[in-house]
Amino acid sequence: MPSAPAGDPVLLCPRDRVAMEKVKRAEVVLDECGRCKGLWFDHRELKAVAHDSDLEKRAAHLGKYPLKSPFSCPRCGGTCYQSFVGDVEVDTCASCHGVWLDANELEEAKRQLDADRIIHGSGAGFLSFLARL
Ligand SMILES: [Zn+2]
Ligand SMILES: [Zn+2]
Repeated sequence: MPSAPAGDPVLLCPRDRVAMEKVKRAEVVLDECGRCKGLWFDHRELKAVAHDSDLEKRAAHLGKYPLKSPFSCPRCGGTCYQSFVGDVEVDTCASCHGVWLDANELEEAKRQLDADRIIHGSGAGFLSFLARL
């Protein structure tokens, strides 16, 4: 068995099984599928990219929606479960807590989280809502 190459291993897209590319978003290196444009966030990367700890907390609400994802974790091979941010379905690994988002789900999840905060009267979301008017 040859020794593993140094650095971040190449992950396979859980949907297409093709090698994902390293992309940089907000100073964080993520794995993106060139085919379906899905994004894999390792634990805490979602928080760093979205600048929003609530997003990662929502994504990590395992057990609330105990639906198994159709694929296993591209990072550790663990079981992924579906959870929801608003009505955006995200897939979270129960073992390493990485999160899979399909193309455009990051933007949609952030938008829904902000909308949810407006409904529940939290200041930060309301201000960012106003900023977009
Ligand atoms: Zn893909
Ligand atoms: Zn995992």
